[in-house]
Amino acid sequence: MKKKSIAIDMDGVLADTEYQYLSYYEKETGKKLLKTVFHNVPELEVLPDGLVYKYLHTPGFFRDLPVMEGAVEAVKALQEQYEVYIVSAAMEFPLSLYEKKEWLAEHFPFIHWHNIIFCGDKSIIDTDFMIDDYCKNLDFCKGKPILFTAGHNASVTHHQRANNWKEVLQLLL
Ligand SMILES: [Mg+2]
Repeated sequence: MKKKSIAIDMDGVLADTEYQYLSYYEKETGKKLLKTVFHNVPELEVLPDGLVYKYLHTPGFFRDLPVMEGAVEAVKALQEQYEVYIVSAAMEFPLSLYEKKEWLAEHFPFIHWHNIIFCGDKSIIDTDFMIDDYCKNLDFCKGKPILFTAGHNASVTHHQRANNWKEVLQLLL
Protein backbone atom coordinates (compact mmCIF):
# COMPACT_ATOMS: atom_id res chain seq x y z
CA MET A 1 0.00 0.00 0.00
CA LYS A 2 1.22 3.47 -0.83
CA LYS A 3 2.38 5.39 2.22
CA LYS A 4 0.51 8.56 3.14
CA SER A 5 2.54 11.72 2.69
CA ILE A 6 3.48 14.54 5.05
CA ALA A 7 4.85 17.98 4.23
CA ILE A 8 7.00 19.35 7.05
CA ASP A 9 7.98 23.00 7.27
CA MET A 10 11.49 24.07 8.33
CA ASP A 11 11.50 27.47 10.09
CA GLY A 12 9.66 27.34 13.40
CA VAL A 13 9.00 23.60 12.99
CA LEU A 14 12.25 21.70 12.34
CA ALA A 15 14.43 24.71 13.13
CA ASP A 16 14.16 26.90 16.21
CA THR A 17 14.04 30.35 14.64
CA GLU A 18 12.80 32.01 17.85
CA TYR A 19 15.95 30.90 19.67
CA GLN A 20 18.10 32.18 16.82
CA TYR A 21 16.44 35.64 16.79
CA LEU A 22 17.07 36.01 20.52
CA SER A 23 20.62 34.81 20.28
CA TYR A 24 21.41 37.26 17.44
CA TYR A 25 19.68 40.03 19.39
CA GLU A 26 21.73 39.32 22.50
CA LYS A 27 24.95 39.29 20.49
CA GLU A 28 24.09 42.66 18.94
CA THR A 29 22.62 44.50 21.94
CA GLY A 30 23.77 42.59 25.02
CA LYS A 31 20.11 42.28 26.03
CA LYS A 32 18.73 38.90 26.94
CA LEU A 33 15.06 38.33 26.10
CA LEU A 34 12.85 35.39 26.93
CA LYS A 35 10.85 33.40 24.36
CA THR A 36 7.69 34.81 25.90
CA VAL A 37 8.29 37.98 23.82
CA PHE A 38 7.01 36.04 20.81
CA HIS A 39 3.62 35.33 22.39
CA ASN A 40 0.87 36.62 20.10
CA VAL A 41 3.17 39.04 18.28
CA PRO A 42 3.71 38.94 14.49
CA GLU A 43 7.12 37.40 13.89
CA LEU A 44 8.59 40.39 12.03
CA GLU A 45 7.57 42.80 14.81
CA VAL A 46 9.04 40.98 17.80
CA LEU A 47 12.34 42.83 17.84
CA PRO A 48 12.69 46.62 17.47
CA ASP A 49 14.18 48.48 14.48
CA GLY A 50 13.35 45.79 11.92
CA LEU A 51 15.95 43.49 13.43
CA VAL A 52 14.05 40.29 12.65
CA TYR A 53 14.05 41.25 8.98
CA LYS A 54 17.74 42.12 9.18
CA TYR A 55 18.64 38.79 10.79
CA LEU A 56 16.61 36.85 8.20
CA HIS A 57 18.82 38.46 5.56
CA THR A 58 22.08 37.91 7.43
CA PRO A 59 24.29 35.27 5.78
CA GLY A 60 24.57 32.27 8.11
CA PHE A 61 21.24 32.82 9.88
CA PHE A 62 19.62 29.73 8.31
CA ARG A 63 22.80 27.67 8.29
CA ASP A 64 23.35 27.55 12.03
CA LEU A 65 19.77 27.42 13.31
CA PRO A 66 19.35 25.09 16.26
CA VAL A 67 17.26 21.97 15.60
CA MET A 68 13.87 21.98 17.32
CA GLU A 69 13.86 19.61 20.29
CA GLY A 70 12.93 16.06 19.32
CA ALA A 71 12.65 16.84 15.59
CA VAL A 72 15.35 14.47 14.29
CA GLU A 73 14.00 11.42 16.13
CA ALA A 74 10.41 12.32 15.24
CA VAL A 75 11.08 12.69 11.51
CA LYS A 76 12.92 9.34 11.53
CA ALA A 77 9.94 7.71 13.23
CA LEU A 78 7.48 9.29 10.79
CA GLN A 79 9.53 8.10 7.82
CA GLU A 80 8.81 4.49 8.79
CA GLN A 81 5.11 4.98 8.16
CA TYR A 82 4.90 8.01 5.86
CA GLU A 83 6.49 9.51 2.81
CA VAL A 84 8.04 12.58 4.41
CA TYR A 85 8.70 15.77 2.44
CA ILE A 86 10.45 18.83 3.76
CA VAL A 87 8.65 21.84 2.31
CA SER A 88 10.06 25.32 2.79
CA ALA A 89 8.95 28.54 1.14
CA ALA A 90 12.64 29.30 0.74
CA MET A 91 11.99 31.59 -2.23
CA GLU A 92 10.97 34.26 0.28
CA PHE A 93 14.65 34.46 1.25
CA PRO A 94 16.52 33.30 -1.86
CA LEU A 95 19.92 33.50 -0.15
CA SER A 96 18.66 30.89 2.29
CA LEU A 97 18.31 28.09 -0.26
CA TYR A 98 21.87 26.83 -0.10
CA GLU A 99 22.05 27.30 3.67
CA LYS A 100 18.84 25.34 4.13
CA LYS A 101 20.09 22.54 1.91
CA GLU A 102 23.35 22.37 3.90
CA TRP A 103 21.46 22.51 7.19
CA LEU A 104 19.26 19.57 6.17
CA ALA A 105 22.31 17.60 5.00
CA GLU A 106 23.91 18.10 8.42
CA HIS A 107 20.95 17.44 10.69
CA PHE A 108 18.62 15.31 8.54
CA PRO A 109 21.00 13.38 6.25
CA PHE A 110 18.44 10.57 6.04
CA ILE A 111 16.14 12.76 3.92
CA HIS A 112 16.78 12.23 0.22
CA TRP A 113 16.95 15.35 -1.94
CA HIS A 114 13.95 14.06 -3.89
CA ASN A 115 11.95 14.74 -0.74
CA ILE A 116 13.12 18.32 -0.28
CA ILE A 117 10.81 20.91 -1.82
CA PHE A 118 11.97 24.53 -1.80
CA CYS A 119 9.12 26.58 -3.19
CA GLY A 120 7.16 29.83 -3.14
CA ASP A 121 3.44 29.34 -2.57
CA LYS A 122 2.80 26.16 -0.58
CA SER A 123 -0.82 25.82 -1.73
CA ILE A 124 0.57 23.81 -4.66
CA ILE A 125 1.59 21.07 -2.21
CA ASP A 126 -0.70 18.04 -2.29
CA THR A 127 0.35 15.88 0.66
CA ASP A 128 -2.02 14.05 3.03
CA PHE A 129 -0.77 16.08 6.00
CA MET A 130 0.99 19.40 6.41
CA ILE A 131 2.85 20.46 9.55
CA ASP A 132 3.51 24.19 9.63
CA ASP A 133 3.50 27.14 12.01
CA TYR A 134 1.64 29.52 9.66
CA CYS A 135 -2.05 29.69 8.75
CA LYS A 136 -1.09 31.29 5.43
CA ASN A 137 0.11 27.80 4.49
CA LEU A 138 -2.25 25.57 6.47
CA ASP A 139 -5.47 27.38 5.50
CA PHE A 140 -4.93 26.43 1.87
CA CYS A 141 -3.33 23.03 2.16
CA LYS A 142 -5.07 20.16 0.44
CA GLY A 143 -4.49 17.58 3.16
CA LYS A 144 -4.99 17.63 6.92
CA PRO A 145 -3.28 20.62 8.54
CA ILE A 146 -1.36 20.42 11.82
CA LEU A 147 -0.39 23.73 13.40
CA PHE A 148 3.01 23.55 15.10
CA THR A 149 2.97 25.92 18.06
CA ALA A 150 5.01 29.12 17.80
CA GLY A 151 4.65 32.35 19.72
CA HIS A 152 3.13 34.15 16.74
CA ASN A 153 0.32 31.58 16.35
CA ALA A 154 -0.67 31.43 20.02
CA SER A 155 -4.22 32.67 19.44
CA VAL A 156 -5.03 30.49 16.41
CA THR A 157 -7.81 28.05 17.21
CA HIS A 158 -9.05 26.71 13.88
CA HIS A 159 -6.40 24.05 13.29
CA GLN A 160 -5.37 20.88 15.05
CA ARG A 161 -2.41 21.98 17.16
CA ALA A 162 0.79 20.20 18.18
CA ASN A 163 2.85 21.98 20.83
CA ASN A 164 6.02 20.00 20.16
CA TRP A 165 7.35 17.01 18.25
CA LYS A 166 6.16 14.57 20.90
CA GLU A 167 2.60 15.73 20.28
CA VAL A 168 3.07 15.41 16.49
CA LEU A 169 3.98 11.76 16.98
CA GLN A 170 0.98 11.24 19.24
CA LEU A 171 -1.25 12.57 16.47
CA LEU A 172 0.31 10.68 13.58
CA LEU A 173 1.64 7.35 14.85
MG1 LIG B 1 7.58 28.08 9.31
